[in-house]
Amino acid sequence: MAEKPIFGNWLSIEKINSLDKYILVTMEEPWKIIEPKITHKPIFLKFNNNMAIDHLKTLALNFEYHLLENCSLIGIGGGTTCDAAKFLAWYLRDKFGLNIDLILIPSIISVDAFLCSSIAVRINNKVKYIGESHPKDIFIDYDLIQIAPPFLNRARVSDTISITTALGDWKLAKDETNENLNQNLFNRARNIAVNLMEARSEIKDVTEKGIKALVDGFYNEVVLCEEWGNARPEEGSEHFLAYCLESFSQEHYIHSNLIGMNILISLFLQEEYAEFSIDEIKQFFEDIKINITP
Ligand SMILES: [Zn+2]
Repeated sequence: MAEKPIFGNWLSIEKINSLDKYILVTMEEPWKIIEPKITHKPIFLKFNNNMAIDHLKTLALNFEYHLLENCSLIGIGGGTTCDAAKFLAWYLRDKFGLNIDLILIPSIISVDAFLCSSIAVRINNKVKYIGESHPKDIFIDYDLIQIAPPFLNRARVSDTISITTALGDWKLAKDETNENLNQNLFNRARNIAVNLMEARSEIKDVTEKGIKALVDGFYNEVVLCEEWGNARPEEGSEHFLAYCLESFSQEHYIHSNLIGMNILISLFLQEEYAEFSIDEIKQFFEDIKINITP
């Protein structure tokens, strides 16, 4: 089960200053913000955006293990940083029996890597999920997140609002292939989408309430999919259409924009099965300023 995030102001600094010893995995941008505010430096500081497994193993092998007793490992950054921190904590435990507390502090709400226990790495340049790493704490630091460009923070909402098409797909699958539809999970998923739409102006401005709404949306979605066993309640045809377009055109697109456009196409194709109207979702994308035009 996903760890419930803790919300607050400058939690990253408060946490770091309360620790004796810690390893910090981060990127240059968040480090520039954090460094002047902390009282003591990490015993190891790693900037990393390379998710190749061999590179990560080399990073893990470079630590001086006798220093790692009662040490915490903090990941502060985006998805790549969180996955790197999850990998290192897992690898150090798995290979060397080191019990290291993992603390994840996203500096941007762009992916849900900080909530998922599976670890995404690259093996032969393909994304593979290996191992599981459960953070002891996840902190959502409003002040840190608000420093990142607002459009990066709100873009990922497409990947939660894809619930609006996933639900129509689910009803279709029930009628056409007799798939199980759990009405309770269906309603909970629907509520996640409705709550996000109600928070649209806060999300657009990336206020504290907007950040909370985005993270709650991710969290509830991750919990729901864990309960159900796959992503049926939250994604479907809009993603398949995206993979299809990318495969035909051999192009890469900005994920949130492409998924946004595809949600509208899927809602159109679902006809009477569509759980939400095209107009209300289109309005939502306009209100939070996600560009969904082809
Ligand atoms: Zn996606």
